[in-house]
Order: sequence, then structure tokens, then C-alpha cells
Amino acid sequence: MRIIFLGAPGSGKGTQSKKVAEQLKIPQLSTGDILRAAVKKGTEVGKKAQTIMEAGGLVSDEIMINIIKNRTAEFDCSDGYILDGFPRTLKQAQKLDEMAKSSGKKINKVISLEVDQSILVARLTGRRVCSACGSEYHILFKKPENEGFCDLDGKELIHRSDDYEDRIVTRLENYNRQTAPLIEYYSQKSILHNIDATGDINDIKNNVLSVLRSRGI
Ligand code: AMP
Repeated sequence: MRIIFLGAPGSGKGTQSKKVAEQLKIPQLSTGDILRAAVKKGTEVGKKAQTIMEAGGLVSDEIMINIIKNRTAEFDCSDGYILDGFPRTLKQAQKLDEMAKSSGKKINKVISLEVDQSILVARLTGRRVCSACGSEYHILFKKPENEGFCDLDGKELIHRSDDYEDRIVTRLENYNRQTAPLIEYYSQKSILHNIDATGDINDIKNNVLSVLRSRGI
């Protein structure tokens, strides 16, 4: 089973896709996480991506398609995967379709997480992320037990450089212009499911799982 999670920044794609992947025992591939790891390591891709990411822009289609092509060819993806943060442009979606066609492994379902824009901004400005394991917290809605430190590994929580208001505005604009049209793209292929992504995290996860199960996944 190959599933895409679509949604604006702050819609909970990362959180939900990780939970669902765990339940279905398939890997969750976050292009944002892959890029952040490349930046940390100082690879060529990381160097190219760093300033674009910090400004809230989109990394080139060519780089992103290469990353996904290589990552989905790895052994752990043979039974499927969940994509979080890819595709983000029409070109990426079309390329993914081409790859799926040539390998005979098409995308089964696309989950679109729906959240009102005003909620997205509040979620993103208050988000804090573990510098080591990437677990997410919120200064109001999901406080860690020990302020500023991760509940899981005790490491420091950071405020992502692209989670400041000016960059959030750019990211949301990019989403509306470049990524939101993919909702229509997948709707026309009859594999899109809209999920209300406000409310309790576990309720949302259960709604996603019941949609997938009702479609035989
Ligand atoms: P995310 O963690 O999904 O919010 O991604 C963080 C940043 O990584 C984005 O704001 C983009 O700069 C970059 N990025 C991640 N995935 C993609 C993609 N599919 N296409 C272009 N840029 C991406």
C-alpha cells in the first residue's frame, strides 16, 4: 500500500502519517526530515536546500524527485510506504505517477488533511521540535513535562527556523499556489479522501485508519 498525506504546513501531516505508518507497519517518508538530515550532515543537497528551507521556499523538483526515487527503491519500501511532504507540486505528482507506472506500483490512496488557515498559523508559531528525535510539541496545546525538553529522550526542543510568522506566511502562500491544486489532481483519479484534521490527534488517526480500512487497506 502506497499512501500520500496532503495538507498545508501545520495540518498535522507529520504526526498523523507517523502514527498511521506505525499501525500499518510501513515506513513513513518525510521529505522535510530527509532534507533536514542532509542539512545537518552538510551534504551537497543539504547545502542547496538550507537557505531555501529557512526562507520557507520550495526546494527544486529535480532534487526532490531524485530523493524520492532513491528512497522508495530501498528494501523497506517493498510492501509500501507513506509519503509526508511529497509531492508538493504538479510536476512532482506527475513524475511520481510515471515512476509508479514503470514499476507497476501505483499510489493507492491520498489523504488530504483539512484545517482552517487561522488554526494553522497558531499551530506553527507555537510548535517546538526535539533537536534529536524530531518529536513535536506545542507551547500551549502539547506541553512537554519538562519545559524546553523532549519527553522521550530529554533532548532540547527547538523552534524551527521556518516556524516564524513571516516564513509561515510564505509557506502557506506556496502551499495554496503550488500544492493545493494536487487535491483536484488526485480527486480526479478518485483516490482522494478529505479528513477533518482539527480536534483530538487520536480521533483524527482513527478516522484516517477507518477510511483506509473501508477501502481494503
Ligand atoms: P516540512 O517538514 O514538510 O514542512 O518541509 C520543510 C521544508 O522542506 C519545506 O518548507 C520545503 O522548503 C522543503 N521541502 C520538503 N518537501 C518538499 C518538496 N516535496 N518539494 C519542495 N520542497 C520541499
